[in-house]
Amino acid sequence: MRRTLIAGNWKMNGSLASIETLIGGIRDGIGSVSNADMAVCPPFVYIPRVRELIGDAPIALGSQNICDQASGAFTGEISGAMLKEFGCRYAIIGHSERRSLYGESDALIAARFAMALETGITPILCVGETLEQREANVTEQVVGEQLDAVIGHSGIDAIGQCVIAYEPVWAIGTGKTASPEQAQAVHAFIRGKLAALDTGVADAVQILYGGSMNPGNAAELLAQPDIDGGLIGGASLKADDFLAIGTSA
Ligand code: PEP
Repeated sequence: MRRTLIAGNWKMNGSLASIETLIGGIRDGIGSVSNADMAVCPPFVYIPRVRELIGDAPIALGSQNICDQASGAFTGEISGAMLKEFGCRYAIIGHSERRSLYGESDALIAARFAMALETGITPILCVGETLEQREANVTEQVVGEQLDAVIGHSGIDAIGQCVIAYEPVWAIGTGKTASPEQAQAVHAFIRGKLAALDTGVADAVQILYGGSMNPGNAAELLAQPDIDGGLIGGASLKADDFLAIGTSA
């Protein structure tokens, strides 16, 4: 049985004051979440402070990216070893904002993914199509190629050590959520594609949905057989909303 994971992607939001309020609120209410694991992915600079604020509460910590290299002359990058030192369990990799705004290619994302695993960090690998691609009926091809880049680099066993997040680009931060049926169809495609390579990996891997998930739509999305949690942007910035998504599982 796959456990549900609800992970918050804070993106470039927050301040020292606001993260204290946010983590305080999540800590206060985390006892109400019994059927899901919860994780937060703050901006890099806040990771040490968030670690302190979490204390012994059952809230996992993740980053929003990770360098594809171990150390050295890579200005502006953060290594897996550094993230490990601050207790990061997860790293979001290949978020559509990294792909589209910062030009991260499938090859770079595959290399970042490999380095996360090498450092003992669980990648949350984001895949998803744009609106144009959906309308052109190439969603499965696009998502398939994004997965193939990682499988080609690291092998199918590596997928068994990661979390996948299906995030239709047109649903991220737009308030337009994929319907439960639309999301389930792509999740089933992903699991089927993996099953053709390794049924054990396909059965075990957590596939999260991301794209305007909120307390109002979470229960129906999370009830789909192949949706194993959520990657939450906007709604992860309010403790009550984030917890409400967790309790919908
Ligand atoms: C995201 O950025 O991963 C995301 C899903 O954002 P939002 O929930 O705001 O659509």
